[in-house]
Amino acid sequence: MNVKLLDTNTVNKIAAGEVVERPASVVKELVENSIDAGARRIEIEIQNGGKALIRVTDDGAGMSREDAALSVRRHATSKLVTADDLSRISTLGFRGEALPTIAAVSKFTLQTRRPSDELGTKISIDGGKVVDTHEVGCKSGTSVVVEELFFNVPARLKFLKATPTEANRIHDFVVKLALSRPEVAFRFVNGNRTAVATPGNGNLLDALGAIYGTELTESLLPLKIDDADLKLSGCVTKPNILKSYRGWQTFIVNGRVVESRTISKAVDEAYKSLVPKTGFPLAVVKLDVPTNSVDVNVHPQKIELKFADEGKIFKAVYRAVREAVEGKQSDEQNLQQIAAPVESPRFEQLTLGDEFKDVAPKKTSPRRKNPLDDFNLEEVLTTVAEAKNKPLPPQVESPPPSKIEHVESPPPEQKLFEPPKSDKAPSPQKKFAELFPIGQVAKCYIVAQSGNDLYVVDQHAAHERILFDRLSAYAENIPAQGLLFHRVMKFDERESELIEQNLSTFAKLGFTLEPSGVNEFRLKEVPLDAADTDEENLLRAILAEVFNGVNAADDIAKKIRAATLATTACKAAIKSGQELDLQQMKILLNDLAKTPHPHTCPHGRPTTIKFSADDLAKMFKRT
Ligand code: ADP
Ligand code: MG
Repeated sequence: MNVKLLDTNTVNKIAAGEVVERPASVVKELVENSIDAGARRIEIEIQNGGKALIRVTDDGAGMSREDAALSVRRHATSKLVTADDLSRISTLGFRGEALPTIAAVSKFTLQTRRPSDELGTKISIDGGKVVDTHEVGCKSGTSVVVEELFFNVPARLKFLKATPTEANRIHDFVVKLALSRPEVAFRFVNGNRTAVATPGNGNLLDALGAIYGTELTESLLPLKIDDADLKLSGCVTKPNILKSYRGWQTFIVNGRVVESRTISKAVDEAYKSLVPKTGFPLAVVKLDVPTNSVDVNVHPQKIELKFADEGKIFKAVYRAVREAVEGKQSDEQNLQQIAAPVESPRFEQLTLGDEFKDVAPKKTSPRRKNPLDDFNLEEVLTTVAEAKNKPLPPQVESPPPSKIEHVESPPPEQKLFEPPKSDKAPSPQKKFAELFPIGQVAKCYIVAQSGNDLYVVDQHAAHERILFDRLSAYAENIPAQGLLFHRVMKFDERESELIEQNLSTFAKLGFTLEPSGVNEFRLKEVPLDAADTDEENLLRAILAEVFNGVNAADDIAKKIRAATLATTACKAAIKSGQELDLQQMKILLNDLAKTPHPHTCPHGRPTTIKFSADDLAKMFKRT
């Protein structure tokens, strides 16, 4: 046998699999180096999702010629000197493996100058081989260019995703990094488009506004815990402002952007019962704990971390989010608190094991009234009445969502309105009885009669079905109604792109939008049936639904249509809690009898429960 030490270049290529998995990991390593170098301004530019080019430029400390040469050699780091230091890591980098690894799998150029030096240094490396080192005149700071990532590792190259996917990953991570350092001005240029630009004034609120739009910042609630060994700050959104993907939850522990199942679970739990399943609230959770109570060295990319006491972290995050959402402070105070830059505390002394105050999750408080749940009686009447007077849309056979085809079996003690016997959705020919309203129970159910049978109808489910069937029946163009006041809405980069590329699809669905600025659209028309709903919230909910589990292969126009029909029907339907008079009930029941799929709501739940005279007799033990 011939045991050999691996040559350095081979070691670097192997390590590349761990530290550098994809373009986003390169961006992460380079930007973290810039942050460690004290940069106040960091510019990230990518071409082709980072596959063709990544350039990270900073105005940080720079390096001397000797240090620059050292920095691209394995385990060269200025940050960690002995193994002891591992327990009190305060910089983002510490292994000294990022630069050499990246240089081993790309065409790599490092250009750097310290402010005190007259000339800088430029080092070019090609697949791990230094091809050129010379002095250059350049700005102070450091610029790293990574071209043709993985050009010499075909297995890795094949593993990379399509350009937009890789670009989105980079985008998401840059946003998180920018939120973790509001005092640094970030600029992210994707292709030729500036996708992120933060002011770098130290104000988290301004950074958030620059990224997500200023309207959003009005809905932010501050997080605050100020214990001796645990500082928590940041913010979350009110439960009615949701985002379509978890990407906008940023967790920062001791200044490092991390993933932590413990933190995300705590956020989820705190919102539970307050938000629908389709959306995620924004969350920026910034935690500062003693450095030796976390282990960041469990993962080569330093993304996942372990807390010495996960339970304590869970409780703290849960408590902070819960308090924020339940609203202990006025909005004015809220904004001021987030705006104030938060100092990172320095911990000298470890105080692990201190019993944490009892913050066991409280019983979930009843859902606070959502202003959207308000429903104007007059409006219901007009909507329903108008609907009645409207000529019936052409009866285009639109495939009902598959869920509808599987009607849930009724609970044994109740008899459902007879569900369709066949696998197919009920055919329009199958007569749905004409029901006569008797009254309303619990502001939620219509009690009705037909012949000798008694019916209980869920008013929301029934109306949702009516609207859904009506919208589905419009083959192409859903009738729209102009808004008296156009709404100017701000979106993030990814949402804007989706809207921009699908303007005509949205228009056909009744949402007429017009670009009105950077990531800004003017909403001019909404579907007629949604004229009385909060149109802004409706549109955002539709986007949330589109992004929910979207993948590259999807037919995006189809997905938008499905999301629009379902979400519009749901949001525009009469809510439970809405009082109805007999006339309104009558209209609703008439419409239900005429709609093609009256038995279930679009989610597959029954709209109607029937008790025949026989059923009643049995229940009263008359037989
Ligand atoms: P680590 O960050 O773990 O120390 P890296 O390979 O990422 O290892 O970087 C090696 C060294 O190069 C760093 O310790 C630092 O001294 C220097 N360096 C890297 N990037 C920069 C930069 N943008 N500005 C100044 N120095 C840098
Ligand atoms: Mg580093």
